[in-house]
Amino acid sequence: MEGRCQCSQVRFTTPLPKPLKMYICHCTECRHQSSSTYGMTAIFPTFDIPAPSPGQIGVYTRPTESGRQLDCLFCTNCGSRLLHRPRGGETVSVKAGCLLALDKAMLQDAVHIWCKEAVVEIPAGVVRWDGEPGGGSFSL
Ligand SMILES: [Zn+2]
Ligand SMILES: [Zn+2]
Repeated sequence: MEGRCQCSQVRFTTPLPKPLKMYICHCTECRHQSSSTYGMTAIFPTFDIPAPSPGQIGVYTRPTESGRQLDCLFCTNCGSRLLHRPRGGETVSVKAGCLLALDKAMLQDAVHIWCKEAVVEIPAGVVRWDGEPGGGSFSL
């Protein structure tokens, strides 16, 4: 899939034609990161985004709850967040709004996570987790 930041100076291609998984994350970190109500993430096998010019891609690094370091790549011109990569991880979280072909069909199968911190209503009938996927209470 093709992706770009808001100003289009950073463009990238994902290593697969569609994501392995889509998550809509309602955690407080994602709310502040996106400056919005929730974060949307498309999981892909790990890859890098080459900077089109020196300094075009910035990296904000923060520790995760599990104690890993998470590198968060962003465009230094427009500030769009591009992807999050846990160090030593096999997958990356592409910020789904960057993807040109993002559409309703892709979002139909999205899993809602960290619903206990949600500030919006969770749609009926979706797969949801109170916290991390795989833990907490699972319901449909
Ligand atoms: Zn940009
Ligand atoms: Zn989150």
